[in-house]
Amino acid sequence: MADIIKLLPDHVANQIAAGEVVQRPASVVKELLENAIDAGSTHIKLIIKDAGKTLIQVIDNGMGMSATDARLSFERHATSKIQTAEDLFKLNTKGFRGEALASIAAIAHVEMNTREETNDVGTKLIIEGSKVVSQEVTVTPKGTSVAVKNLFYNIPARRNFLKSDNVELRHITDEFHRVAMAHPNVHFDFYNNGSEIFNLPVSNLRQRVVNIFGGKTNEKLVPISENTEVVNINGFVCKPEFSKKTRGEQFFFVNNRFIKSSYLHHAVSAAFEGLINDNVHPGYFLYFEVNPSSIDINIHPTKTEIKFDDEHTLYAILRSSVKHSLGQFNVAPVLDFER
Ligand code: ADP
Ligand code: MG
Repeated sequence: MADIIKLLPDHVANQIAAGEVVQRPASVVKELLENAIDAGSTHIKLIIKDAGKTLIQVIDNGMGMSATDARLSFERHATSKIQTAEDLFKLNTKGFRGEALASIAAIAHVEMNTREETNDVGTKLIIEGSKVVSQEVTVTPKGTSVAVKNLFYNIPARRNFLKSDNVELRHITDEFHRVAMAHPNVHFDFYNNGSEIFNLPVSNLRQRVVNIFGGKTNEKLVPISENTEVVNINGFVCKPEFSKKTRGEQFFFVNNRFIKSSYLHHAVSAAFEGLINDNVHPGYFLYFEVNPSSIDINIHPTKTEIKFDDEHTLYAILRSSVKHSLGQFNVAPVLDFER
């Protein structure tokens, strides 16, 4: 029989990879914001139209790219962030897979404008469905702007599958919150359909949380601070009386990366035992700093789950730290006793 195996053309491989990286407009928002952070930006602007279905644009004042790098950045597995597999264990960046821009460009119309500080002129690049439509020299501010238009224009099934603008905007706002909360030292602006919905100046952690969740949040916060050899923990838990029926304001960050962990969640819940009823959930904003070699972030493309070397120790430290702080701040239990 004749040989039947063929290598997939790049644009097809990119489109398949895009399925993993880009589930919805919010995934694009996350990837672009993270790239802006990795570029060392101090001011990042997010602009969206129609819940990201027509436009998602991120403008940063970071390091920018040379013309060659701008072009290369859209190739699959093209990254400036790691070079060897060992680098995975000393990651200081959000990205490292080199897949985001290639994936996004495979399923949308993308325009990038970028300039390095040392260059007088920058590069404007237009890519549609993995094909470079034009590349020219342009006058543009220092930093990078990436505009993503008509997401999933060439995958109608995906486009039709998108939820209402309200739902998609909710997902985008969640991603924005997570990145903004992880980087209070960066100024963020967020515009939706022409109106500003967030303007977050550089601030400390408490102020950033309050700026995002509203002035009333300030009185709810009990500070957590714990420095050990294994981990530094900082941040806040909400006083027991502000616990909610819904699980809303619960955030873990590890080395400034938002993560989900039902195991660590359990540690916090355990610290609230005896202070709140089972049917309500405590709020928390908790930041862990660990040695990058003690975690594995590489287990999922969207990187919201990570593996810790020593989960049990982390659990114990977290639980006792939260318990201690709740005790120190003299919080009273808010249990209703049912007979
Ligand atoms: P990754 O972030 O995993 O490296 P991406 O596809 O997101 O992969 O980006 C590819 C490369 O393009 C990055 O490694 C970086 O060098 C460059 N890049 C992307 N966005 C920006 C930006 N906003 N500013 C400067 N460089 C960028
Ligand atoms: Mg990236």
